[in-house]
Amino acid sequence: MKIGFIGLGAMGKPMAVNLLKEGYQVSAFDVNRTSVDEIVAFGAVGCSNGGAVAASSDVIITSLPNAGIVETVMVGSEGLFSQCKEGTVIIDMSSVSPSSTLKMAGIAETMGIKYVDAPVSGGTKGADAGTLAIMVGADEAVFEKIKPVLEVIGGDIYHVGPTGTGDAIKIVNNLMLGCNMATLAEALILGVKCGLKVETMQKIISKSSGRSYAMEAKLEKFIMKDDFEGGFAMDLQYKDLGLALEAGKENNIPLPMTALATQVFESGRASGLGREDMSAIIKVWEKITNVRVA
Ligand code: NDP
Repeated sequence: MKIGFIGLGAMGKPMAVNLLKEGYQVSAFDVNRTSVDEIVAFGAVGCSNGGAVAASSDVIITSLPNAGIVETVMVGSEGLFSQCKEGTVIIDMSSVSPSSTLKMAGIAETMGIKYVDAPVSGGTKGADAGTLAIMVGADEAVFEKIKPVLEVIGGDIYHVGPTGTGDAIKIVNNLMLGCNMATLAEALILGVKCGLKVETMQKIISKSSGRSYAMEAKLEKFIMKDDFEGGFAMDLQYKDLGLALEAGKENNIPLPMTALATQVFESGRASGLGREDMSAIIKVWEKITNVRVA
């Protein structure tokens, strides 16, 4: 099975490297030429556009920043759809909206192309280690066909349901992560102002009912070290909250907590924190309140 890979960024590059290490033949493209050169050094065939990837692949994986870019890569003038052989499977591992995926899947179907949404959780660390959680929206036969490929990239592979459901569960997950992180930040500030040490809050609340994954993953590693390099960029968390709001609008579901959390991260981005780990939102509260947590 020949694999195509488009989008060799923080997530895509380590995924493609793991496929190469497993012995798959990989053709790759990214708008960033340096990223293509880097993956060629691992044994991939470098391509100068998406169409060239499509022409030589049975399965094409995309890991791209957002739905607008995914759609351009699929249906643009040199897009994948016009170049794919009938029967090709496209696996989009980007975090995008279910509605965008369903639109792409609808077009793909008319051309005999299978289109799968398979967003991931686990960050760049999980991508490097090949241990990502992968949430797949696909029909059963297509899922079985691509499962061996996904097992190289991830540790927990979930077949959620038909096309679009992978994106749906990813949005729900990241809505909860964003809201929990926004809550953690303001709660820590209040605790410090009331005379608590951050270490005390970590020790006791991590065993109490207010604990969350945001606390487990972000408090000791980033906030207590006052170092927000790496991790999951605030810009990406903000994007994912936007996807949830979009899905809420489309489905007539009110999401007041999500709307508030979006504004919290908007203030972080306005403060220049968009590229730092999402937990850097604590800096906004520290500035407003003149309270230091770490
Ligand atoms: P990056 O921005 O690091 O990678 C995306 C890559 O795609 C970049 O190299 C970018 O190039 C390239 N690209 C942009 N436009 C095109 C195009 N038209 N054709 C080909 N390549 C293009 O993002 P990540 O790897 O961090 O994220 C990828 C997806 O995974 C996103 O949807 C994100 O939300 C999701 N995700 C990310 C996680 C993380 O921890 N980073 C965790 C879970 C999910 P250039 O930079 O030059 O624009």
